[in-house]
Amino acid sequence: MNVFEKDSAYIAGTYARFPLALTHGRGALVYDTEGREYIDLSSGIAVNTFGYSDPVWAQAVAEQAGKLQHTSNLFYSAPCARLAEMLCTRTGMKKVFFSNSGAEANECAIKCARKYAADRYGSDRCQIITLKNSFHGRTVTTLSATGQDSFHELFHPLTEGFRYARASHMEDIAQLTEDGKVAAIMIELVQGEGGVNPLERDYVTALAAYAQEKDILLIVDEVQTGNGRTGALYAYMNYGITPDIVTTAKGLAGGLPLGATLFGEKTEGVLTPGTHGSTFGGNPVACAGAISILDRLDAVLLEQVKEKSIYIREELTDAPGILSVSGMGLMLGIETVADAGAVIAACREKGVLVIRAKNKVRLLPPLNIEVGLIKRAVAVIREVCKDLGNKEDHA
Ligand code: PLP
Repeated sequence: MNVFEKDSAYIAGTYARFPLALTHGRGALVYDTEGREYIDLSSGIAVNTFGYSDPVWAQAVAEQAGKLQHTSNLFYSAPCARLAEMLCTRTGMKKVFFSNSGAEANECAIKCARKYAADRYGSDRCQIITLKNSFHGRTVTTLSATGQDSFHELFHPLTEGFRYARASHMEDIAQLTEDGKVAAIMIELVQGEGGVNPLERDYVTALAAYAQEKDILLIVDEVQTGNGRTGALYAYMNYGITPDIVTTAKGLAGGLPLGATLFGEKTEGVLTPGTHGSTFGGNPVACAGAISILDRLDAVLLEQVKEKSIYIREELTDAPGILSVSGMGLMLGIETVADAGAVIAACREKGVLVIRAKNKVRLLPPLNIEVGLIKRAVAVIREVCKDLGNKEDHA
């Protein structure tokens, strides 16, 4: 059996995979079993921050794997402590809890918010507001937090205690908090899976001020937007707000599973011994990878993310077959005249890997992608959108 046959014989059918099997890569270039080369503008869905097999990252990871690959959280280990120090120093947040994924980082945030409110106001104050069209993960609780009915349908009963507000509608927040039972509001600043939609600055500012006034915690889900993706270390920094809890994962360790929940002044002491834990959370190899990533997410790199973003936006906005470009930094959504799936398939045929978010083609290239590769990839996207867009126009 080849890899495609084995996969379909033995792996649960939860993924509609593209028809390629990837073997190896370097930077933004990746190769398949047929030896074909692709420019990958998806980075394993915003995970491979510095692309495939980044040599500095690979060395850091290999060195740590050769020394101490795991220790339980009953012991101290230096990479975990160092990474937490780096995260707190760079963000101003006070404490970190490490887990293995975005969903787990959000679970931890939800537990912390409920405990914070229960400690102060009683266990009745347990509701969490999330936004319609949001995505917060696939565990039953983060699925319940996700503000999209399509994700809920098959999995009732959901976890109780979530209320959904429309983005940009402060009146929804006022109404949903009226009964005094809301512990926290959780938002993505750019809704990723929801179609790469940034929240409006005025709305976010108003929301943060309202939450602060009512002592409702503001949780910012930076699982996808974090770690330099939007041109700031964390997207909340683009909005000038100070969240009470920040969650992140994906690009944090550059390709290894690591989630982090960052606590601010109000929340740093909420979780106490026995209230939360994880076997693998803060794994030294994953943390060594993350240290190597975070070390290089400096002002120069972040500036380059912004410049690359401007270039891509300028090239694609108003191009034939393209209706709009949304997003922030190197997290971009392209609304195309042709069906997004057809555009993605045609780009792949021409050696460019892009993915989907709702009706949009989503770009999440490695942050250090060479400008020459961006130019080549953007030329392919333009050509495909022009070709397919026009064909559909004339159909
Ligand atoms: N939150 C956001 C904003 C995400 O984009 C995702 C994944 O796409 C998650 C949470 C869940 O992350 P994970 O798949 O690592 O559990």
